[in-house]
Amino acid sequence: MKTHAASFGDFRCGHCRNLVSAAHLLSGVNNRNHCPYCLWSCHLDLFAAGDRLSACKGQMKPVGLTMKKGRNKYRLGSGGELMLIHQCVECGTLSINRIAADDDPDSIMDVFHASRTLDRQIRIRCGEQGIVLLGDVEIVHAQLYGQFAEIPLLERF
Ligand SMILES: [Zn+2]
Ligand SMILES: [Zn+2]
Repeated sequence: MKTHAASFGDFRCGHCRNLVSAAHLLSGVNNRNHCPYCLWSCHLDLFAAGDRLSACKGQMKPVGLTMKKGRNKYRLGSGGELMLIHQCVECGTLSINRIAADDDPDSIMDVFHASRTLDRQIRIRCGEQGIVLLGDVEIVHAQLYGQFAEIPLLERF
């Protein structure tokens, strides 16, 4: 552990090198495992979120978004929770992670746009694991910026 961290529990993101504070680690989710700025994660868990049993330790890239179904499946668009899909750049493992309140919404939007041209191999792997890639910009936008926020024309294509 390097000594430049500002306080106990802080760490530097292995991808964008931003300092992630311990406060970020406590921002509304248990076992926060990704950087709030670039959204990259690290392959630490093996069986369940937070178990820290994986020997891989590879960086995990945010490759797309999915929706975790809410309890009321009849309330279209509002009943689910937006989730990040990460893929390990070392071993290819996919994982689904909750978005934290302080994750950068613009970065999440970037992940969404990039996922539209996602590698076929990754799409197939998602399909095999029952992960449905979100393709609807209106749902993503409403989740990130609020139900009635204007969608910039640029993002509508
Ligand atoms: Zn980062
Ligand atoms: Zn891995």
